[in-house]
Amino acid sequence: MNRRNFLRTSILGTALAMSPISFSAFGEPTRKTTRSGRLNLSFEPYELKLRHTFNLAKNQRTTTPGVQVQLEFDGVVGYGEASMPPYLGESVQSVTEFLSKLDLSQFDDPFRIEDIHAYMESVAPNNRAAKASVDIALHDLLGKMMGQPWYKIWGLNPETTPNTSYTISYQSDPAEMQKEIDECAPFRVVKVKMGVGHDKEIVEALRRYSDVPICVDANQGWSSKEHALEMCEWLAEKNCLFVEQPMPKEMIDETAWVRERSPLPLIADEFLQRLPDVTRAHGAYDGINIKLMKSTGMHEAYKMAVLARALGMKVMLGCMTETSCAVTAAAQLSPMVDWADLDGNLLIANDRFDGIKINDGKVIIPDRPGIGVELLS
Ligand code: MG
Repeated sequence: MNRRNFLRTSILGTALAMSPISFSAFGEPTRKTTRSGRLNLSFEPYELKLRHTFNLAKNQRTTTPGVQVQLEFDGVVGYGEASMPPYLGESVQSVTEFLSKLDLSQFDDPFRIEDIHAYMESVAPNNRAAKASVDIALHDLLGKMMGQPWYKIWGLNPETTPNTSYTISYQSDPAEMQKEIDECAPFRVVKVKMGVGHDKEIVEALRRYSDVPICVDANQGWSSKEHALEMCEWLAEKNCLFVEQPMPKEMIDETAWVRERSPLPLIADEFLQRLPDVTRAHGAYDGINIKLMKSTGMHEAYKMAVLARALGMKVMLGCMTETSCAVTAAAQLSPMVDWADLDGNLLIANDRFDGIKINDGKVIIPDRPGIGVELLS
């Protein structure tokens, strides 16, 4: 039997219907499966420890809850991950509850990605990071079965990956601020978080040492259109490339007003989650920030990038604080985008995967099949 026929006749989800789901993705599984041709889903919570405190417009934190996922089919293992920053509304509990409900036994072909997504939607709405964890693991598994990385499957040129930005955030201690600035030195673009009350100080602190282009993420922190426009005009004089989510996501008319007057492009982040949101953003924003944890994974992220391009919009590819697993999965799409913000793995102290590399600021996609990662621990 050749590989294609083998795949057609293999039964994807029977393992989930016939055997209990393991809660330990990487340690001792609760039940080992010895039969071939069955898909095993296992998962475990994995708290991401941040190297620096995150100071965002609306909160502060030192960890991010996560869940690591593993999909095994006939000896081939795909890795996935859910990362749940609090503002997204998902938690370890909600993700593990969703994953526990999944029964993929009705599918007899692991390549039925569309059907598997439709099924996940039918199990429960929302749960985007949970769905992304399955989607990423499925892409890793399928890419490995085909022996190819996803950038190749999508027909993308890995030479055309963008530079990634590296995020610095405001630190009231000057020594800490200096440390942040020193760490961004190898990068060609620096992302500055704003909307926390020190917006101009952080740019001025950086500009004392570096002319590196910046992009600004206001994280919905500017509450009036006049202030947002004034900041865009000020930033345009500071070698800023674009402004992400200048105002609260609900303020779409005000954002459109700023966009008409702003010398800098405006990019939607919190405003936008999934494919239908791309057309909603068109007109009020110049571009979109795609993140796998919002889009339910790589499958819909690819469609979003295609649609945004068709609408003449800019495309940015972002991430949450994640291990190299989900960041490398996102990197597979990076040749399609204008700007990348794929530093999430660099911001954590307990990465457990080898994957994406940054060379002189540029995204390097590993030459491995699937999403391109290797489990280290
Ligand atoms: Mg953002």
